[in-house]
Amino acid sequence: MRMRNAAAAAAVALALAATATACGGEKGTAGDKPKGGELYEGSYTVAKDVKLDSPALKAAQKRGKIIIGAKADQPFLGFADTDGKRSGFDIEIAKMIAADLGFSADKITWKTVDTNVRETSISKGQVDYYVGTYTINDERKKQVGFAGPYYQAGADLLVRKDEKGITGPDSVKGKKVCSIVGSTPLQEIKKPKYGAETTELSKYSLCVKQLLDGQVDAVTTDDAILKGYAAQRPSKLKLVGKPFTEEPYGVGMNKNDKVLRNAITDSIEKHIKNGDYKKAYEGTLGKSGSSYVAPKTPLPRY
Ligand code: GLU
Repeated sequence: MRMRNAAAAAAVALALAATATACGGEKGTAGDKPKGGELYEGSYTVAKDVKLDSPALKAAQKRGKIIIGAKADQPFLGFADTDGKRSGFDIEIAKMIAADLGFSADKITWKTVDTNVRETSISKGQVDYYVGTYTINDERKKQVGFAGPYYQAGADLLVRKDEKGITGPDSVKGKKVCSIVGSTPLQEIKKPKYGAETTELSKYSLCVKQLLDGQVDAVTTDDAILKGYAAQRPSKLKLVGKPFTEEPYGVGMNKNDKVLRNAITDSIEKHIKNGDYKKAYEGTLGKSGSSYVAPKTPLPRY
């Protein structure tokens, strides 16, 4: 191939790959574990000789591995494929932080921690920190520490492509809406003013399966998560597109480890400023239709 055609050929190959990714979920049976696709994977400069008075970091240095809690069934955000390979925006954020703490990607032990067990897992020290669509709020701050917000999502509704009746949270009266135990969007949609009939499961992918199978009428959680599922099954699913809560994402860690919290806050700020954040965003979440918004810095400290 002549050189001047190489770029064009590469672009075509990329476009084809993107199409294959977007349609990947179509081939499986409803509820198959969706494919995260070929997403951006950044490489981040690994800090040397990090000395911080953080109990979690000291323990990680001793074991030679940092344990990071993440989601595994959220394409474009936090996803593990069948080989256990992780991809997505949250995964990139987690890797940037690990690098600043002195851990390269091969020194990360990923631990899948779903919504309903996050606080327990973090406070028991089962993970050193957690990056997984984790909304910062006062209730959770009683149990865990948060660095961020590094992203702002909002609860939305995912419905079947042919759905006409559900146009927003004000039209779910008497409808079956699926969400996840321990999540903020579930708490919201359970409010009597909406009149929804809820199905409460442990993983979003299970809700999506029920939606595809016709057992529920909608799935509610953050728009960023739902866009990932819709992007994988564009002929079957769509977003309503009317966010009705604010979900600022934070990195969770032990509540008393203020040194780690500050170090993680520094790290997020650094990667927002040096452009790593934007690159990661555009190569992951950006591909499922979330448009880029620069997070506000400086981040809050407490
Ligand atoms: N961001 C929301 C929450 O933290 C929903 C997403 C999730 O369950 O991780 O509850």
